[in-house]
Amino acid sequence: MCEINVEKMSKKIKIAQKILDSTKEGIVITDIKGNIKWVNPAFTTITGYEKEEVLEKNPRILKSQRHDSLFYKNMWKSILQKGFWQNEIWNRRKNGETYLEWLTISSVLDDEGKIIYYISVFHDLTESMLQEEYIKYQANYDALTDLPNRYLLKDRIDRGITHVCKKKKILAVFFLDVDRFKRINETLGHYIGDVLIQKIGKRLKECMNEEDTVGRLGGDEFIIILEEEENTKQIMKKAQKILKIFDEPFLLDGYTTYITASMGISIYPSDGKDADHLIKNAETAMYRAKAKGKNGYQLYTAKMNQKALEKLTIENDMHKALERKEFVLYYQPQVEATTGRIIGVEALIRWNHPQKGMIPPGEFISLAEETGFIVPLGEWVIYEACRQGRLWEEKGLKGIQISVNLSPLQFQQKNIIEKIKSILEKTGMKAENLEIEITESGAMINPDFTIELLKEMKKMNIKVAIDDFGTGYSSLSYFTKFPIDKMKIDQSFIRNICSDDRNRAIVLAIINIAKSLGLSCIAEGVETQDELDLLIEYECEQIQGYFFSRPISPTSFEELYENPNFFYNDFLKK
Ligand code: C2E
Ligand code: CA
Ligand code: CA
Repeated sequence: MCEINVEKMSKKIKIAQKILDSTKEGIVITDIKGNIKWVNPAFTTITGYEKEEVLEKNPRILKSQRHDSLFYKNMWKSILQKGFWQNEIWNRRKNGETYLEWLTISSVLDDEGKIIYYISVFHDLTESMLQEEYIKYQANYDALTDLPNRYLLKDRIDRGITHVCKKKKILAVFFLDVDRFKRINETLGHYIGDVLIQKIGKRLKECMNEEDTVGRLGGDEFIIILEEEENTKQIMKKAQKILKIFDEPFLLDGYTTYITASMGISIYPSDGKDADHLIKNAETAMYRAKAKGKNGYQLYTAKMNQKALEKLTIENDMHKALERKEFVLYYQPQVEATTGRIIGVEALIRWNHPQKGMIPPGEFISLAEETGFIVPLGEWVIYEACRQGRLWEEKGLKGIQISVNLSPLQFQQKNIIEKIKSILEKTGMKAENLEIEITESGAMINPDFTIELLKEMKKMNIKVAIDDFGTGYSSLSYFTKFPIDKMKIDQSFIRNICSDDRNRAIVLAIINIAKSLGLSCIAEGVETQDELDLLIEYECEQIQGYFFSRPISPTSFEELYENPNFFYNDFLKK
């Protein structure tokens, strides 16, 4: 018998032929000896063998080594007894790959009931199987980091609970959120933001044990699950270990960036009985860590939910407050350490809330940063400070330098230089009387960008101070490159300078660094005579702090400025 000749077939058969040619199922017709007489194009697509290569061959060429002889024996038994066989079967493609197909083999009989052909019809199950695997994977893992996603995390927590319940141990859920991630995304771009998330995921995974789960909820939020812990002390130790992964800078496509993260911790059974509650409470604790100055962790307490609620109302009110002119600036004098002569002021914002009274910035600035509201709010601060500066100049309070805090999100706005320029023009404030304070950690988010921006400010004659110096990841090599005028020693070092040798050493080191770089130096948070004395001894030029004056309203400042004798005497007497 030769190959089936389609040309000689009737019209009806030709139609049938077309169908067989276009179907996605592979079809093989063999004679009773098992020689292949005909295959359709789908056969070639699935197996990789051309028709010419297989004609007159035995379908055995497709055999994989995955089934034993019994399998084939049963197959033939069924075909001969029932006239057909149907099952999943592993076969091998021409390129050597094995694949799973759904195969139906039927015998075709002639008029006398004798078998003349066998027809095999099959389709590839591998693709749909892979798809199923993929869907399963996608449903449980995060595509960017390959870490467990929200669903799998919840499942792991719930399973973990059952597990620790039996062993009478505790389980901890860590909610980690990268500080200022939005800013990184906005300045360096989303691609770099993604790379950063991947790198963080990798470092987290590396720092944890095999049995701990590290997953990603989405955005810049990670969850870490610790099972079988004995006590909170152990858990806090792990928290410190986790935050340590941020000590090293991240290299992102040529950028070096120093970042930190904040973490909230909830514990089963005390802080929640299921995954949802544990995650939610860990998140609340994370917000608390952010509010407390970021780069740290907090254990959840029930009081925090109340705080979270307050935060929400503050956020709502804040937007209206700018229009309603509820924000005010207070000014804290900065003085020459040895004489008490006022050389400048730092503008510090307060919110005069109609119901809650004067709200300090600590309660709304980080929220304003998170929501981006800091951009219009900060612009108002620059404007108001410059307006006040000009007014004082007109009133005869000459040459007072006004320092304004610039949040990192603000100075990373593309048009910040233009904005400051236009404010200076509008208010008539002299550029050399304006000082911008940027925090050390903010400056280090993207140091190269900071350098460019500071150069622009220099060109305009604006002064620049590095705020909270000593608290960030100081990279001294950068500080020699930053075109700055002043270093502000963070108040945490001044706080116990008299009793803490380490802090004293840090303060002395900062003063000396400033000197050697030709910068001036100011100590903030000076509260006592002893602190002042020590700072004078260390030759710190300027001081700012409650010892001299708290932040005060513009009118109070004018009084203070106008009665220097009263003040100086008072000051020197102390
Ligand atoms: P900062 O820039 O480090 O400001 C110094 C803070 O220390 C001020 O708190 C000031 O009142 C306080 N302080 C000064 N001397 C002493 C002292 O002797 N003892 C103690 N215990 N504290 C002292 P304040 O006004 O509550 O501001 C807190 C933070 O809020 C500021 O820290 C700054 O980061 C932020 N902030 C305030 N105003 C603005 C603003 O207009 N824009 C931005 N972006 N941030 C602002
Ligand atoms: Ca400041
Ligand atoms: Ca400061």
